[in-house]
Amino acid sequence: METVFIDGSTGEGGGQILRTSLALSCITGKSLHIENIRAARRNPGLAKQHLSCVRAVCEICSGQCRGAALRSGTLDFHPAPVQSGDFRFDIGSAGSASLVIQTVLPALFLADKPSAVTVTGGTHNPLAPPFDFLSETFLPAIEAVGFRGSCKLIKHGFYPAGGGKITFNVQPWQKSTDRVIKLCESSEQFQIHARIYTAKLPPHIAQRQRKLLLQSGLNIRNVEHIEVTDSDGPGNCAMIRLCDSSRTTVFTAFGMRGKPSQQVVSEVVNLAENFLTSGAAIDRFLADQLLIYMAISKAGSYTTNELSSHLQTNMEVIKKFLPVNFRVEQQKQAYTISCLPRTN
Ligand code: ATP
Repeated sequence: METVFIDGSTGEGGGQILRTSLALSCITGKSLHIENIRAARRNPGLAKQHLSCVRAVCEICSGQCRGAALRSGTLDFHPAPVQSGDFRFDIGSAGSASLVIQTVLPALFLADKPSAVTVTGGTHNPLAPPFDFLSETFLPAIEAVGFRGSCKLIKHGFYPAGGGKITFNVQPWQKSTDRVIKLCESSEQFQIHARIYTAKLPPHIAQRQRKLLLQSGLNIRNVEHIEVTDSDGPGNCAMIRLCDSSRTTVFTAFGMRGKPSQQVVSEVVNLAENFLTSGAAIDRFLADQLLIYMAISKAGSYTTNELSSHLQTNMEVIKKFLPVNFRVEQQKQAYTISCLPRTN
């Protein structure tokens, strides 16, 4: 069987190149040789979260790998056929549980029986999809095209303590040629809600962030405060949820020691405002995460507000494994991304 060679330093040069490659290697049965893993990051090579992704794919397909060690920059992975099952993975740090789930999901969707995945790690981490995004934005978007599942937050885990837990139940893909990803129209009518998480922090933080959110230019209807009592350590994030009749888009900014609430709130408000003014249908995070599902079904299109380097890099990685092409067209402030079967 063919081996796909990936240079992990290209484009975004981060962990997503590895995760997408592992997922696609599992799906296609092609071996993977990846070098320069996360070369563009301050701490290159495999960190605990990435190592957990490697171990997780090895487990779901009884794969063999060489180079699976902390800080390793090179990995060889040889997949075997994917088996459904009840899988439990512990990252052993605050590494993102959602990113481990996202690595194994595509292959488990293509298995012939349902699976359950439980991951212990971070559930609300900077630079990764928080649980709320996974359940409210990502899952409904893929469910619409037959990738059905359900997820549950068992315990919250914030960076740096981690120790949270998410379970995800995966149903085999119900393939249908008349259901493809088509998310091109922006919504006219959003209801805008906000959510603040605080864990083991004084009450004035949520009060201040609530006030700032309500004072922002966005017409926020209500601010929900979730005071987390089950986490191992402190944590804070502010979310803006744009809801219409068919979708919810969750934007998040994280608080940390020394970072003023003003900055947390303006970050999340900016994310939402940029999206709202663009006229795009989906945000830049969902955009890079949906690509693999469009590629599996060899069809689909969406509009997004940013041609992020994650998105561009992911397209290049996917094209190395699957016979698809992507078309990118720019409108005023939005980009249309379409996936087409490759004929040559
Ligand atoms: P590193 O590059 O350090 O290895 P990483 O492993 O977290 O970091 P990245 O390559 O940066 O990997 O990918 C992060 C992923 O998390 C991307 O798919 C991105 O869309 C997603 N993501 C980041 N922030 C958010 C957010 N606020 N909401 C939803 N998804 C997010």
